[in-house]
Amino acid sequence: MSQALDMTAMAPALSAEEVWERFLAADCNGISRHVLDTWLRPVRCVAIHADLVTLEVQDQFFRDWLTDHYVKFIIEGLGRQLGSTVRIAWQINDAMKIEPLLPEPPTLSVVHHVPTPKIKRAESNDVADTAQDLASPDRRDQLNERYLFENFVAGPSNDFAYAACKAVAENPGTSYNPLFLFGGVGLGKTHLVSAIGHHIRANNPNARIVYVSAEQFTNDVVQAVLTSKLEGFRDKYRRYVDAILIDDIQLIAGKERTQHEFFHIFNALYDSKRQIIVTSDKLPHEIPDIEERLRSRFQWGLVADIQPPELETRVAILRKKALAEHVELSNEVTFFLAESVRSNVRELEGALVRLLAHASMSKTPITVDYVKKVLGHVMDLKQSSLSMESIQRIVAEYFHVRVADLNGRRRVKAIVLPRQVAMYLCRKHTDGSFPEIGSRFGKDHTTIMSACEKIDSNLKLDPELRKQILDVERLLEQVQA
Ligand code: ADP
Ligand code: MG
Repeated sequence: MSQALDMTAMAPALSAEEVWERFLAADCNGISRHVLDTWLRPVRCVAIHADLVTLEVQDQFFRDWLTDHYVKFIIEGLGRQLGSTVRIAWQINDAMKIEPLLPEPPTLSVVHHVPTPKIKRAESNDVADTAQDLASPDRRDQLNERYLFENFVAGPSNDFAYAACKAVAENPGTSYNPLFLFGGVGLGKTHLVSAIGHHIRANNPNARIVYVSAEQFTNDVVQAVLTSKLEGFRDKYRRYVDAILIDDIQLIAGKERTQHEFFHIFNALYDSKRQIIVTSDKLPHEIPDIEERLRSRFQWGLVADIQPPELETRVAILRKKALAEHVELSNEVTFFLAESVRSNVRELEGALVRLLAHASMSKTPITVDYVKKVLGHVMDLKQSSLSMESIQRIVAEYFHVRVADLNGRRRVKAIVLPRQVAMYLCRKHTDGSFPEIGSRFGKDHTTIMSACEKIDSNLKLDPELRKQILDVERLLEQVQA
């Protein structure tokens, strides 16, 4: 209270910009660095008139995302800083798009946009052949034709990534460059990145899209080095490209030559405003053995994460896929399947395909019992329930605290977070009621309820927390298996 009064007294002396700085410093320390750097630091607070605070952002997408996800947080925080209630007005300023200067200029001169895909014959036949070779349609165009935006089911776990991919697909090279798509195995990274490729091409049939897995890219580098056809290789990736999609970039970890080539490709494409999209199962700062200059470039544009789908999204995915196969599944069967296969869309899809194949061969109606019979071996594994004890043990190990700390009363941050995570996961993965979980942790049931609510709401704001929970859930799955 006294703090709020102090702030009121100080407010007239502070500029709008300073108020924002204070908000960042005082109200955002519980927010992950990633969220802070991506969403909150780039905002400019340009004016405060009475209760109206004007915030400036670089584009509509940015504004929409902030209004959908952080507006309450911002209003509360600014309210605290100004000691009164506030309203927000948004202003869009194109000039705010950050275009960092390259610390090291690329070795090649900047390659400008080449409007036709035609490959000119270079003086050396070798080089031209390689470029032609590497850029031939079958090599360049490996986009899976099923992986379209309209076949992708968006939900809370992936809607940010989905929106970001659509924004990039609509305005390649201008909105978010590079786009770094991050998420666990089988969660739709390849699907989304391919959808971007299809979309760009639908808007502009001449667009030259290169889709390549990091593994294939590495092979290309090795091949080019071995056969002394580096120039053709570089042409393929720097010159004859409007958008490059590199899948599973984490696989270039430890491969120095590949990283070196990729670095120069990145610079050349980036400089000439061509779109770069990479996917990874790790965040940039978690990829081991990768050059710092590449790591930092991955963060220049936008880092978007995909989380495992929640139940409703899994149900929607099953419905969509069943419909595509012209099969109608009862609600009961759909929910049963969606409850049983939780962490990975590829597995969910696999279970459905197996089920439909069996049912059509045996001409049997699909009931829950039939699902259990056909997919029993898959389900057993997923359904064995976890004990609160093992959840506590795994959480404690993961966060480097003791189980006794989880059950204790110390309120230091390093313990409070793991404790709340353990409570949340007990609620999510066991049948324990709030009072039962409470007695395990030596706490009142209301403590458990508020911990679960807290984690639930922080999950929406904080990708780092989502990642930690996902890591723990993976460990739990191993225990179950
Ligand atoms: P990743 O590249 O992240 O490992 P994929 O893109 O290969 O995952 O996805 C695995 C499978 O799951 C694909 O067949 C994809 O079409 C499907 N899939 C994943 N997420 C979704 C989604 N949200 N909606 C529809 N299909 C999805
Ligand atoms: Mg993939």
